[in-house]
Amino acid sequence: MAQDHYAVLGVDAKASADEIKRAYRRLALATHPDRHPDDPEAEERFRGISIAYTVLSDPAKRARYDTTRHLPEAFTGGQEMNVQTAKDLLSAVFGDVLGRQRRQRKRGRDIRYTLTVDFAEAILGTEKEIRFEALGPCSTCGGSGEKAGGRGPQTCSLCSGRGEIKGEGFFAPWTACGRCRGMGLIHQDPCDRCRGRGARRESRAFRVRIPPGTEPGAERIVREQGEPGYFGGGPGNLRVTINLRDDPWLRRDGDDIHVDLWLSLSEAARGGKIPVPTVSGEVMVEIPPGVSTGAKLRLRGKGVPQEKGRPGDQIVSVILETPRLDALGGSGAARAEFEELLAKLDEFSATHPGLVPRRSAQRDDG
Ligand SMILES: [Zn+2]
Ligand SMILES: [Zn+2]
Repeated sequence: MAQDHYAVLGVDAKASADEIKRAYRRLALATHPDRHPDDPEAEERFRGISIAYTVLSDPAKRARYDTTRHLPEAFTGGQEMNVQTAKDLLSAVFGDVLGRQRRQRKRGRDIRYTLTVDFAEAILGTEKEIRFEALGPCSTCGGSGEKAGGRGPQTCSLCSGRGEIKGEGFFAPWTACGRCRGMGLIHQDPCDRCRGRGARRESRAFRVRIPPGTEPGAERIVREQGEPGYFGGGPGNLRVTINLRDDPWLRRDGDDIHVDLWLSLSEAARGGKIPVPTVSGEVMVEIPPGVSTGAKLRLRGKGVPQEKGRPGDQIVSVILETPRLDALGGSGAARAEFEELLAKLDEFSATHPGLVPRRSAQRDDG
């Protein structure tokens, strides 16, 4: 007597596709041969559950089964199913529920993307849209790789579902099976559009959040947005590596940001408000008159923002920029004019040593 597929799955004849799927998952996991090694009874039940699912999950087969199930020669849909095919069916439907090595083969590959942002954007945090061409789920088959109403995947006959083939000789290595490309499964009725891959190259777009204080080389992972899996295996992840465009003036040291502030002689002498670059644009900073190279000013809270607590500071290091006479050329009116200004400055300094007291003391030529 043929098995009653509904009874085997413990569902009633009006069960929805979803109820059937849930019952199959629960029972297949409970009787899985990997959990009951050398238990022929569990194996027999596992195969029966798998056959019942192949029939009841396919609307055409289920309808045929429903109309004939009470007749003496009922359509059972019941091709014999070996244990390997039954195992493969489970992972084709639910991915690698038992967490075995097979998972690695069927899971989609990760997609890697390098996103370059400005230094200031990484410090302050931002959100960016990225676009690229990559494999996404085939819209025709929904990623299954199979034609609508197809017969489901079949164990690869060349490698017997193992996905690898051992070469000739005792020490020969195992290599990926060329027929099933290491998957152990073959589509009997592959989707025409994606030829069974379940995926197609397409333009994809994502928004990536870059949290404040992101360091160069940081990785953002967008779960399950990598390449689609094979035969129901889960998708890979999208891994976005953050690359920083250097800032011409600003550099980071821990939670602080450093900047060299270049001042002309007259600016340094007078002091006053001078624009200073920061990650949030220029700010006017009060420079004390008579400031020298090496002086440091601290802009509180202008450093790296923190999730909790006080942000870092910006440290401003003053450097006096010495005029470069060579920029005016070897001769000419401009050069002569500037030489004259310098001569005047020397003359004035000689009569007012207090203007540059340390220089005067050291040189002792006043
Ligand atoms: Zn397809
Ligand atoms: Zn194979």
